[in-house]
Amino acid sequence: MAKNKNDGLNRRDFLTKATATGVGTAALTSASGQTSAQETDIHWDLTADFVSIGAGVSGLAGGISALEHGASVILVDENTDIGGHGMISGGNVHLGGGHSIQRKHGIEDSADKIYDDWIRPDHPLARYNDRDLVRVFADENLSTFNWLVDNGVDFDDEQVIGPQMASTIPRQVRVRPWPNRDERYIYVPTRGGDGLVRALEKKVRDGGGTILLRHRMTEIIRETPNSGRVLGITVDAGDKTLNIRATKGVLIATGGHSNNVNLRRVFDARLTEEYFVSGDPYSRKSGDGEIAAMALGASLWGTSAQTNEAERCLRKAGTIGGEFCESSLHWHPDSPIFDEKVRASGLTNINWANLILVTQDGVRFYDETANDYDFMAAALASRGEPNKRNGGGPIWAIFDADAVARQGWNPTPPNVDPNGYFFSADTIPELASKIENPHQPKPMPGDVLENSVTRFNSFVDTGIDADFGKPQPMYKIQTPPFYAAWSTPTIHDSYTGLRINTSSQVINMHGEVIEGLYAAGECQGGFNQHGLGRSIVFGRIAGRHATANT
Ligand SMILES: Cc1cc2nc3c(=O)[nH]c(=O)nc-3n(C[C@H](O)[C@H](O)[C@H](O)COP(=O)(O)OP(=O)(O)OC[C@H]3O[C@@H](n4cnc5c(N)ncnc54)[C@H](O)[C@@H]3O)c2cc1C
Repeated sequence: MAKNKNDGLNRRDFLTKATATGVGTAALTSASGQTSAQETDIHWDLTADFVSIGAGVSGLAGGISALEHGASVILVDENTDIGGHGMISGGNVHLGGGHSIQRKHGIEDSADKIYDDWIRPDHPLARYNDRDLVRVFADENLSTFNWLVDNGVDFDDEQVIGPQMASTIPRQVRVRPWPNRDERYIYVPTRGGDGLVRALEKKVRDGGGTILLRHRMTEIIRETPNSGRVLGITVDAGDKTLNIRATKGVLIATGGHSNNVNLRRVFDARLTEEYFVSGDPYSRKSGDGEIAAMALGASLWGTSAQTNEAERCLRKAGTIGGEFCESSLHWHPDSPIFDEKVRASGLTNINWANLILVTQDGVRFYDETANDYDFMAAALASRGEPNKRNGGGPIWAIFDADAVARQGWNPTPPNVDPNGYFFSADTIPELASKIENPHQPKPMPGDVLENSVTRFNSFVDTGIDADFGKPQPMYKIQTPPFYAAWSTPTIHDSYTGLRINTSSQVINMHGEVIEGLYAAGECQGGFNQHGLGRSIVFGRIAGRHATANT
């Protein structure tokens, strides 16, 4: 194994790096599986027992767990703040097993019940799961809930939500918002996710862990690509590049792959550039961890989970008029990322009877009130554009001044983003001509949009939507000004990723452990469960196994 120059040990070792981009100066696994080692003299800038790539939910859990076992810990995160998607999440944690809040509400639960629910052959979220991962998840639920409480996470004990997902009984418990929230750090004011990640952050910092923000992992360093331990990582810290040594383990906790268009299209070729990821622009599901691990021969696992059309892989836009509007996000204009990145809070509480949805060509494509996978398939269907054979392009909501009045909307900034995501005009053809957006390759034809509106208005007269069966009441689009608001579906969770074993160790294509490499959260595969619960459980396991081998 390589020795640390800073320890005064021999540094002339054959070391290899695998890059997050798949391209780098160091030796990589080639497409044929052949490798070329390169003699590299690694200078370690920093050393810790346990290093997490990502200071989101699973990274923080892993960090605390490692600290508890006496390890030194470094968490790196490319973002300007900790938390990842956990920060802007609802803070609803799916953990059961018979914990105190379930008992308070008379709900009987056990590890075996969790296991049975999450391997159910009759549920698409359960039938594809790796039974070994579900078993350890089930067995660790109760202890993980208690561990969170011990680590300062404040759960609202007034309710247990559910049954949800594949669970047959209520299990989801909500974390209270972080007390004394600093106004500058409010991202989504209605959310409690900050209560979870701020509590975990405090525990890491109080425990002596180091969190390095604006540090992006670019490489995972291993003795050779095909063998030996993972030794550490390389990070890009803006003005410098650092090598960080991990003597006991590196945790990949990068939060999934959905922001990487090439990687997400491995699973669903329709997911072209126009689909933003729920959670943008707070933090990225970069795919960096998966790509760097795959360059070391890591396997993916349970990839069907990404496309089995269960739960939340894809979502109808439930908030419209801004690039980063999504059904559950309402960005706070005081948040530090609002002006530079978010730009619009969006128009909310949509009554879909008030508008029509059209493609980039101005054509209606489905009953606007629907929210099923047939709706999603219609929205994501290519219309045969010569330069756009995959993906459905932007979807625009078209409505009028009467709809705005009925909804009580104020269609001005910062509620909407007139810079490419919201337009208004006094006539429908003029509205079409104004729509300019990076994902709209050519202007919307005014005559087509006008025909769509006229035809829809005729359905209001007859009371029957002859094209898509939109239920009544329907409202005519007739009173200027007319509006077009960005309403393109969004991508939500990553449901597949790296293959891990029950100790969260990353497994290669031969079914073997890659020593020193762990993965948890949305970048792990094999367990089709939304969100925080599994991220915390497997992050906690990783930190413990790397530092205490249990
Ligand atoms: C709007 C919204 C609401 C949600 N609500 C809920 C909910 O109520 N309940 C629930 O269970 N789940 C919810 N979720 C999902 C939940 O937040 C995620 O599943 C969870 O945060 C995933 O944890 P993670 O550790 O895998 O990733 P994250 O928490 O996203 O953390 C990943 C971290 O890795 C960092 N990173 C990425 N690439 C690199 C790199 N190369 N170098 C360094 N750092 C990197 C990112 O910046 C990020 O901080 C919600 C998600 C969203 C978007």
